[in-house]
Amino acid sequence: MQKTVHIIGAGISGLSAAVRLSNAGYRVQVHEATQAVGGRCRSYFDAATNLTIDNGNHLLLSGNHHALAYARSIGTEAGLVGPKTAQFPFVDIATGQRWQLDLGSTRLPLWVFDESRRVPDTGVRDYLALAPLVWSSTRRTVGDAIRCDGTLYQRLVQPLLLAALNVDPPEGSAGLAGAVVRETLLMGGQACRPLIARDGLSSVLIEPAVALLKSKGAEVHIGHELREFASKGERLTGLTFGPDDIIAIGADDAVVMAVPPRAAASLLPGIKTPTKFRAIVNAHFRFDPPLNAPPILGVIGGLVEWLFAFPQRLSVTISNGDRLVDMPREQLAAEIWSDVCKAAGVTADLPPWQIVRERRATFEATPEQNALRPGPVTAFKNLFLAGDWTDTGLPATIEGSVRSGDRAADLVLALR
Ligand SMILES: Cc1cc2nc3c(=O)[nH]c(=O)nc-3n(C[C@H](O)[C@H](O)[C@H](O)COP(=O)(O)OP(=O)(O)OC[C@H]3O[C@@H](n4cnc5c(N)ncnc54)[C@H](O)[C@@H]3O)c2cc1C
Repeated sequence: MQKTVHIIGAGISGLSAAVRLSNAGYRVQVHEATQAVGGRCRSYFDAATNLTIDNGNHLLLSGNHHALAYARSIGTEAGLVGPKTAQFPFVDIATGQRWQLDLGSTRLPLWVFDESRRVPDTGVRDYLALAPLVWSSTRRTVGDAIRCDGTLYQRLVQPLLLAALNVDPPEGSAGLAGAVVRETLLMGGQACRPLIARDGLSSVLIEPAVALLKSKGAEVHIGHELREFASKGERLTGLTFGPDDIIAIGADDAVVMAVPPRAAASLLPGIKTPTKFRAIVNAHFRFDPPLNAPPILGVIGGLVEWLFAFPQRLSVTISNGDRLVDMPREQLAAEIWSDVCKAAGVTADLPPWQIVRERRATFEATPEQNALRPGPVTAFKNLFLAGDWTDTGLPATIEGSVRSGDRAADLVLALR
């Protein structure tokens, strides 16, 4: 008889596990608590801007191999678009200075040796000083490993690590920062090409996965929140969704739990999970980008950190955004728009806008919280964990999510 795997949670982690197991011939059932799939990576129609927007602008890099393989497996790799080579235009809106970091497309970070391609006013020695970060211990902070000041820090290291870790870099985990640097900057431009889901996160990374799953006979149940596990000895025996909604787990069946840390801790008391989180703020403006607007612009010297140009929309990401969570929305929109005008070189009144504040966007990527991430194996032989917060060796990212989903799926496959 075909074995069944229940996937709890339909974010990227759960969907990647589901796709892998469905492709391997398992009968897959996905259970999602909310009415929408995608979790923290989804699109929806927004009435204020009259546009379909993403909950947050998500940037992938060409070195995110698991994420790209996931997109390939659901037939949408071509939906992740970006420039042909790894070029990152930047602007300092405090001074008006503009420059372009050009990492090229090689497998080695040769750009460091070319003054016209690296960050202006930096020298090779500044880059060599980052070496202690590359293989740093997970117990150290970025501030312990490298000097967090100077031109290279302000113009490249700070924006990159802030985006990757979602904490102020000096307090961030040097181990996680090192993993990001090893897999991207150190691998040359071929691993750093920026990629975005131009047509929206859901249409590129979520809906095609659901369609593929359904075409293979999998079931995706939305509004189906797992309330409790039933177990006997070392095995889960049932899933309780409601008093009259209990699913028995057969002797050969397995469960992948891909829910966020708080839900995981309440379903499985006693597991360790990160306990602290950080916000990400996104602002979306209905405004036709100037013709010469790059798809992604790094912004320093203001509130805005990254400016994304989409059809009919300019969109902004601000990481480590807890300080902005309680700010009045109108004030925040006006302040961000003022930065956007400087960065994009436009003069215009505030257009229709939307602010999305994801309070628990990511776990806090500090050494202390990183140490609380569990592996995929649990006390139950037929239950495995997935999620960007599990111990993937990476910060909370799509790449980490897909890796965790793949890893949990591989453990299910190994039960055969
Ligand atoms: C604003 C923002 C910007 C980001 N930017 C980037 C970026 O630029 N690049 C990048 O790589 N990453 C980015 N990320 C991180 C990325 O979105 C996450 O790492 C990823 O989406 C996490 O996926 P997940 O499946 O692990 O968790 P989630 O997406 O949280 O999925 C968990 C799912 O479980 C469901 N669930 C919870 N409890 C239950 C239950 N009891 N029963 C059933 N279902 C349940 C939830 O409803 C949810 O759908 C960003 C995140 C945010 C919020």
